[in-house]
Amino acid sequence: MKAGKASVLRRIEASKEEAIDLLAELVKADSVNPPGDTRKAAEVITRKAATFSENVEIVSCGETVSNIFITLNPGARPQLLYNGHLDTVPVGNEANWDVDPFGAVVRDGRMFGRGVADMKGGVAAMLMAAKALAVERVALEGSLVLSFVGDEETGAAKGTGFLMERGYYSPDMVVVGEITDNCGIAIAGKGIAVYALTTRGRSAHGSTPWAGVNAIDKMVEILHRLQTDLVPDLRRRDSGFLRCATLNVGMIQGGIAFNVVADQCDVVIDRRTLPGETADGVTREIRDIIDRLGKEDPALDASILPLGVAPPFETSPDEMICRVARDTMKELGRPTDFVGYGQVCDGRIFSEKGIPTIVMGPGTATEAHAPNESLELDQYLEAIRVYALLAMNALGGS
Ligand SMILES: [Zn+2]
Repeated sequence: MKAGKASVLRRIEASKEEAIDLLAELVKADSVNPPGDTRKAAEVITRKAATFSENVEIVSCGETVSNIFITLNPGARPQLLYNGHLDTVPVGNEANWDVDPFGAVVRDGRMFGRGVADMKGGVAAMLMAAKALAVERVALEGSLVLSFVGDEETGAAKGTGFLMERGYYSPDMVVVGEITDNCGIAIAGKGIAVYALTTRGRSAHGSTPWAGVNAIDKMVEILHRLQTDLVPDLRRRDSGFLRCATLNVGMIQGGIAFNVVADQCDVVIDRRTLPGETADGVTREIRDIIDRLGKEDPALDASILPLGVAPPFETSPDEMICRVARDTMKELGRPTDFVGYGQVCDGRIFSEKGIPTIVMGPGTATEAHAPNESLELDQYLEAIRVYALLAMNALGGS
């Protein structure tokens, strides 16, 4: 290992306490979304960033969503972008927590709190890595940009999506620091398509169901067909790094009283997509099933409404960022396999623009969005080393 890298790693080792304090401060800065106010978290970040960089910029969207850019060696190419989100999902039922969700309690080598894994750990690790590079005066040939954003959990329209639209991004490669089970190298990620399905019937007295058309019964037929004619096929679909495509009926509502034949039933479907699946194709598959059923049952009156879509992403393993990530993990004596990212993240926004993107971050997927969310501190500290060396390998730092 070159002298520059060794001194960066020594710096990271010496800054352990500082890194853990930073993560605790971030966890204490409530940024649950909704409402998605990231000002407090952004303040923690900018205070730390100001200790090592003069290039700190806040770009707000509306009054409460603060997005931050921190740049090392601005203007130089290539440009590596580290992206992370500051907002978190809500706490949920506090009775299910054994600790204060904003207390940043440390117990048995783990820190607990809402967002500590998803993904304040990734954000803090990226920031501490940048600090180590800056303090050790690593001469980067390219530039490292950190973008910490709001509004990831509710669609990115005020965060990464907003910044992309406004022309704030022009990276040559991107690392998103979402959880990939202790910094696995995810080069593909699932997409999502959400649909509202509605069946309509005709009301009648509950004692004379033959006098009406029961919309709930009709919906049950559709859901049954989705399970028998589509779901087995989705289970067999495999894109290599991502297990399979899925369909989940997440919500259902119908009828007005037990003794009335229901005249409407609504469900919401969450369909997770694989690279290669298109939004149109996915919609057509569901529509075809409804159409086929309609031919067998003339009384079926059903419609499908797409509510939202985010595409899957896939990056060629031959891209420089993938190779560099592998070299970095090898250098640290860690697994070098490529993996898939099973959730949806802001990575898709860069990938859609043709920018090579990977997802790589500390934490375990099951911790995200759960009560008693926690992050193993060893994973967090390892992520700082990963991000520091990765930047040096990608940007020719010495
Ligand atoms: Zn996340």
